[in-house]
Amino acid sequence: MRVFDPAAATVLTLCSQCDKPESQCTCEKFCCFCQSQFNIRLAVDGMYYCPDCREACDVRVADAEQH
Ligand SMILES: [Zn+2]
Ligand SMILES: [Zn+2]
Repeated sequence: MRVFDPAAATVLTLCSQCDKPESQCTCEKFCCFCQSQFNIRLAVDGMYYCPDCREACDVRVADAEQH
């Protein structure tokens, strides 16, 4: 899920499990494809990916949009 955060004037991507941004998410983070637990980042679709699967699926890290 993605929401606009007026305070930060940016679009936040929320964890699909807890509806919190990555910085506040306390879910166990593992890749939604390969179940890897290394370098897992929240992507713009609200799912967690390892770097390899993220690249394979061509999805961006949620934070990467915030300049
Ligand atoms: Zn979460
Ligand atoms: Zn993976």
